[in-house]
Amino acid sequence: KNQINKLLAELGIRIAGYQPEKPVSSFGHMGFPDRLLERIRKVGFLDPTPIQSTAIPQILAGRDVIGIAQTGSGKTAGFVWPIIYHVTKQRPLKYGDGPMALIMAPTRELCQQLYAEVRKFAKNYDSFRVGICFGGVNMYEQGKELKMGVEILVATPGRLIDHVKKGNTELSKCTIICLDEADRMLELGFEPQVRSICNHVRPDKQCLFFSATFKKVIERLATEVLNDPVKLTQGQIGQ
Ligand code: ADP
Ligand code: MG
Repeated sequence: KNQINKLLAELGIRIAGYQPEKPVSSFGHMGFPDRLLERIRKVGFLDPTPIQSTAIPQILAGRDVIGIAQTGSGKTAGFVWPIIYHVTKQRPLKYGDGPMALIMAPTRELCQQLYAEVRKFAKNYDSFRVGICFGGVNMYEQGKELKMGVEILVATPGRLIDHVKKGNTELSKCTIICLDEADRMLELGFEPQVRSICNHVRPDKQCLFFSATFKKVIERLATEVLNDPVKLTQGQIGQ
């Protein structure tokens, strides 16, 4: 316990929640498969950032996580790597299956970045199917892609609901949901859609919230949606 606190102090991270996992400060000790580690090294990353060191062990242990850290702290990879690993354990996908993992983001640009990031790190896996959907463009082409089946889906909440209603995809296989930029998501008024999606997915799902700030609205949604979460806060945010 003292050792954990010392590590956390060095990393500048506070942890709240029941029996959190110990931070891991090297990629080689995270328990990731070689194919993923190879990609991480290829991209040129040497060590995990503090939010990655602390969030990844919780996610791999199956915990719900709230991760609060400023922009540029490496939050994306902190959930993308465990999500890729999670999915590779459940492959292969059958034609037409809905996603095993869902990443939600508030804007098209953010969805595109997340999509690129997932593909970059999943490159060593054969025909890894990553889907993307966001509003403001025709449903048809997106729907065609989704109908073939995806393993990881990156989506804005409104458009995802439209596709589910149309029968282009379904969420019965989804066992992990991640909300990126949760603060912006709620500021843009997506709370009802996010709540409806979270409630629609199987109750034993794992749920992750990542954000640069932590406000009352996030706390309220987290209390409602998350199950016994571990909350990680980097630096002075939200104090
Ligand atoms: P956030 O979502 O917290 O704002 P990002 O996930 O976008 O931050 O990461 C910020 C930058 O840091 C990106 O360019 C990303 O490629 C880089 N990065 C992420 N993790 C590492 C790492 N472990 N080592 C070096 N660079 C990293
Ligand atoms: Mg981010």
